[in-house]
Amino acid sequence: MQYVSTRGGSAPQEFSQILLEGLAVDGGLAMPVSYPKVTDAELTAWRKLSYADLAFKILSKFATDIPADDLRALVKKTYTAQVYCNGRNPAQANEITPLTTLEKDLHILELSNGPTLAFKDMAMQLLGNLFEYALAKTNSELNILGATSGDTGSAAEYAMRGKRGVRVFMLSPHGKMSAFQRAQMYSLQDENIFNIAIRGMFDDAQDIVKAVSNDHAFKARQKIGTVNSINWARVLAQAVYYFKGYFAATTSNDQQVSFTVPSGNFGNVLAGHIARQMGLPIRRLVAATNENNVLDEFFRTGVYRVRKSSETYETSSPSMDISKASNFERFVYDLLGQDGAAVKALWQQVDSQGYFDLSQHPAFPETASRYGFGSGCSTHADRLQTIRETQAKYGVLIDTHTADAMKVAQEWREPGIPMLVLETALPIKFAETVKEATGQAAPRPPAFAGIEDLPQRCEVMDVNVQTVKDFITQRTGL
Ligand SMILES: *Cc1c(COP(=O)(O)O)cnc(C)c1O
Repeated sequence: MQYVSTRGGSAPQEFSQILLEGLAVDGGLAMPVSYPKVTDAELTAWRKLSYADLAFKILSKFATDIPADDLRALVKKTYTAQVYCNGRNPAQANEITPLTTLEKDLHILELSNGPTLAFKDMAMQLLGNLFEYALAKTNSELNILGATSGDTGSAAEYAMRGKRGVRVFMLSPHGKMSAFQRAQMYSLQDENIFNIAIRGMFDDAQDIVKAVSNDHAFKARQKIGTVNSINWARVLAQAVYYFKGYFAATTSNDQQVSFTVPSGNFGNVLAGHIARQMGLPIRRLVAATNENNVLDEFFRTGVYRVRKSSETYETSSPSMDISKASNFERFVYDLLGQDGAAVKALWQQVDSQGYFDLSQHPAFPETASRYGFGSGCSTHADRLQTIRETQAKYGVLIDTHTADAMKVAQEWREPGIPMLVLETALPIKFAETVKEATGQAAPRPPAFAGIEDLPQRCEVMDVNVQTVKDFITQRTGL
């Protein structure tokens, strides 16, 4: 399988070549030249597979340049009950992503039983193993630099800890994260993990990362890379649980299901699109947003309008607080018939005027009719109400992001079609709002008892690009 850029300006590349890359040379995102189709016989055979075996079947259609035995070993090492048992249902840990049935045709697909209790572990853990494998093959090393306000940074650290050839330098805003989040990240004692607490806000930390990355000589010498949400392997790894969820909710391949997905950067729901393009019988893919409703606006009106920072809200589902949806370009590429020049022109409009408008484009109605997309949004009040109602009605406590999806899912349920709501975090991660909703503390998985008391390892620094660069240089010795 070969990969090209959504903006049409890069030569075809293999999976291993795009694995460690961020943006393509032309500023676009890597996409496969076509989607491998899954046959009915394959779907039937895959029903019985373990998560790891299923992941191997799907990934091997895309990572064709990795020897099959190597790939199989990598996914077996990644998707184990040991890694994905942190949350509830220990008896179901072998399922990796168990399905909880709330009532007939309404289910929650659990994606947050990994080490950091959020769905980012589903893909990031695999990425850690893929990176280590690819770096060992070429005898090279990689220094991952990132800024985090919580979820992504800890998922990246837990995925990369102890991996040969990889170091992680993760910037976070000093004193701005919850005690639980701080403990999750700063208590890691692995020699290849470096936490840097910046005396400033998240934006200050992100600006430092941008400044360091824009120093191309420094970036090359220090072998700086990222693990952001546009990484193709990350998106692809997420397609697996759409298959797993489909098999858990159906008994034969002539049945359809719908998914509602808490969405921010459009990586999760794009994985559903990939599964659907491969032939998984998905009826609808519903993108649920919070008050930062860039995606909902597009699916309702055809206008994709990125927000200024003054228009980007801090909400109680913070992992969906985005001003633009970085993976959305990949869907638009498919919508426009893989026309890289057209995609490039649209993103030039975004750069110059802040939006593009496809409302009059003949392909726009196909977002729903051909690709099955729907959308909706929710507010803080909706989240509180949904968390309360879900607990009262079904005895199941959900987090704020899952609540955004649960609220929107109700608007898209259809008789006889199972609706699967994707759970993207456990309530303990957003305990304050969950307590506001229910009046009770969110339960804490036993593995996380007392983590706030563990010794922490973290470097505190001023908002200063040079200080961060010096620290990296010292630690890498490059
Ligand atoms: C990252 C994240 C999301 C958003 O996922 P995207 O792939 O960016 O759309 C939703 N919920 C949680 C808890 C997350 O960490």
